[in-house]
Amino acid sequence: MKQYIIIFIALFLLFSSCSRNQLHRHSRESTVMDTYVSVTIYDPAISQEQAYALIDSSFTEFRRVEAAMTDYADTSEVGIVNVRAGKDTVTVSEELAELLKTSISFSEQSNGAFDVSVGPIVKAWNFLSPEPIVLSKSKLENLRQFVDYKKIIIDGNSVFLNRIGMRIDLGAIAKGYAVDKVIEILKRKGIKNTIVDLGGNLAVWWEGTHALYSAVAEILVRHPRKEGKFFGSLKVGTCGVSTSGDYQRYFINDNIRYHHIIDPATGYPANDVVSVTIVADDAMTADALSTTIFVLGRQKGMEFIKKSKGVEGLIVWEEGGSLKYELSSGLQGKFKRSDD
Ligand code: AMP
Ligand code: MG
Repeated sequence: MKQYIIIFIALFLLFSSCSRNQLHRHSRESTVMDTYVSVTIYDPAISQEQAYALIDSSFTEFRRVEAAMTDYADTSEVGIVNVRAGKDTVTVSEELAELLKTSISFSEQSNGAFDVSVGPIVKAWNFLSPEPIVLSKSKLENLRQFVDYKKIIIDGNSVFLNRIGMRIDLGAIAKGYAVDKVIEILKRKGIKNTIVDLGGNLAVWWEGTHALYSAVAEILVRHPRKEGKFFGSLKVGTCGVSTSGDYQRYFINDNIRYHHIIDPATGYPANDVVSVTIVADDAMTADALSTTIFVLGRQKGMEFIKKSKGVEGLIVWEEGGSLKYELSSGLQGKFKRSDD
């Protein structure tokens, strides 16, 4: 299924006042967290060597976050919490404790549409298997007993999953979190213009610009149904942008698409919309909310965007065989639909 995890957002700078050469662009790509990552630095003051050294330290940071947050390995911090579910309290890093607390607050705000304890259901669907199967309603009903963010007990840096069989899965938030960590490092090193993209969870850091009042970067949003094509583009300044789509990890059975974004209320993939792009102040918020709003669906999702300060969104859904979309008010005039 790895081939489905392809680049679905690309970036192009707008050359309003400066030429390509003046931008001094240094860029490298790699693979981390099962997807591509690219770090691009635009800075006339540093040499290619210095830029590459910074980009390499960014990749090291991505790998550090991945090693701690992955639930694929029983030996990662998250893996240990999962293995000890229902048995022991585990002392974790402050970083993981904070990320879990933040995740729980997204769950509270969304009434459980976002839930990092969705792990048992995601694991059972096994979207990465070469031959995934459709799970029965009764199997999902049974698994849902093990999914409940209220049963993640955190006290300081101690974490306890209050039931055997529970499982944390940070897949909907960790990539955005990692992007923000890398941006922090690059800012500390004095970089003023950079774009970091981890599998479509990206951050634009362009000193002195603002998400919606500046247009230094054009973000291309992947077409949810045409591989290699773009649905449209968004012009933004400093911000986090993330897209969640039903085309990233999926299989089709009897004409029904089963994909990796799960509605915790049913255990089935959420099916009201096909793609959600969120613009927020940082990449972690954009990442968590693109998944949340995908689960909430078109109407509740747009209401959620409207009431969330600093959050804007593009929701795409299928109707009568074609794709329709809605923009929140802040993105009006910032989004341009591509020709299909
Ligand atoms: P994203 O691509 O950011 O939308 O995240 C999707 C990933 O998040 C999935 O592959 C799962 O690992 C996890 N996930 C699926 N459904 C949910 C949910 N309702 N809440 C939190 N995480 C989820
Ligand atoms: Mg997400």
